Amino acid sequence: MSKFEKVRGMHNASLEEAYLWSHVSKFSESLLKSFSYSEIRIPVVEYTDLFKRSVGNETDIVNKEMFTFKSKSDKSLTLRPEGTAGCMRASINQGLLDSGPQRLFYSGPMYRYERPQKGRNREFFQLSAEIYGIDSVYAEIELFQIIEKIIKNYKIDDSRLEINSLGSEDDQRKFSIALQDYLKPLKNQLDKDSQNRLRKNPLRILDSKSTETQKVLRDAPKIAQFRSDDSKNKYELLKNLLDEFEITYEENENLVRGLDYYNDSVFEWKSDSLGSQNTFCAGGRYDSLSKKLGGRSSPAVGVSLGLDRLIIACKDKFSITHSKKIAVIILDDKFLAYGNNISEKIRASFPDFEVRYSGLDTNLKTQLKRANKNNFNLAIILGREEVESETYTIKDLDSGNNYEKLSLEDLISFLK
Ligand code: ATP
Ligand code: MG
Repeated sequence: MSKFEKVRGMHNASLEEAYLWSHVSKFSESLLKSFSYSEIRIPVVEYTDLFKRSVGNETDIVNKEMFTFKSKSDKSLTLRPEGTAGCMRASINQGLLDSGPQRLFYSGPMYRYERPQKGRNREFFQLSAEIYGIDSVYAEIELFQIIEKIIKNYKIDDSRLEINSLGSEDDQRKFSIALQDYLKPLKNQLDKDSQNRLRKNPLRILDSKSTETQKVLRDAPKIAQFRSDDSKNKYELLKNLLDEFEITYEENENLVRGLDYYNDSVFEWKSDSLGSQNTFCAGGRYDSLSKKLGGRSSPAVGVSLGLDRLIIACKDKFSITHSKKIAVIILDDKFLAYGNNISEKIRASFPDFEVRYSGLDTNLKTQLKRANKNNFNLAIILGREEVESETYTIKDLDSGNNYEKLSLEDLISFLK
């Protein structure tokens, strides 16, 4: 029979990746909880209009990348391409926006119909944090602190933070018009994508990867010329705070982000070890989204960590210290319950240990060979003599030493 292949753009994580993955999730979630964030659980499927209205009709995500389908009752549904819109929708539905500032986090799969390559899949995973109801740029600083702690813990030492300020919605509108006026006569020198964006989403041209387009942009108007005083002040304050918190950053005036809802601060963390898909974390402020989705007006800022890329960036740098692995081995099937009994005792006394007990599935030699191959640290061997004298023989698989016929007390203190 022929084998099934995985669907294009989906990723089968290796067991090592999965281990690192759950380590990162646990670390990040407990860090977020220590900063007083609550987990919010939101669905993978939303009405398509939610993304059209929030992410924006003229963005790549909405135009080209959504997995959209009809429900049986002919409603247009979409697998979420990002979480910010769904989180805001759920928060409005649940009345969270009406009960003071909120700090929320969630994680899970996102879906975008993209060309698969290293660090770019059609199903990918994000861990996101959102702050609602805090106008102060201190909210941004708190998110920076959290992400920097994750980066430090996983030793992504080549990471760099880039920031920009897009100004208010009004500033962006004025800047877009000026950019269009400047680029229209030079349209033929732009790459194809940028030519298409010129009319409907000119800001996106700024992050074009084409060197020709970047050359044309050199003398183009800059967002800084269009920032209102309020946005200028916020941006200056943000930069001052970053200095005060000793968080290193670079300003990138071409950083625009691919979603329409952002205003003022936008930011991305990049790592060169990732190759061309080098952004592994990104976010920004989106003060107008709650009203666009029918909620009360509420300032908001959020960040999303791309877990797939984070795992690639730290895989070779961060080594996990595994818990102790213990194999319990019996030499006769009369001792099946006995073997289970001691396995349960060790699990109860040492919840961090990994205790594997397989009954009498094969002979001692093969069991020891398997334990060695799977990086077990110790084997506890139960033969007739041990069972009759209620003792335990230990083989230290790391050193090769044997410790024969220990009492239960001696076994427990040995394991300590
Ligand atoms: P890119 O420019 O790489 O397409 P983006 O701006 O579309 O990224 P965001 O919408 O900001 O991405 O999503 C936040 C993070 O999610 C990204 O920084 C990245 O780490 C991750 N991400 C986005 N799209 C993908 C994908 N297709 N595969 C893997 N990770 C992704
Ligand atoms: Mg993208």
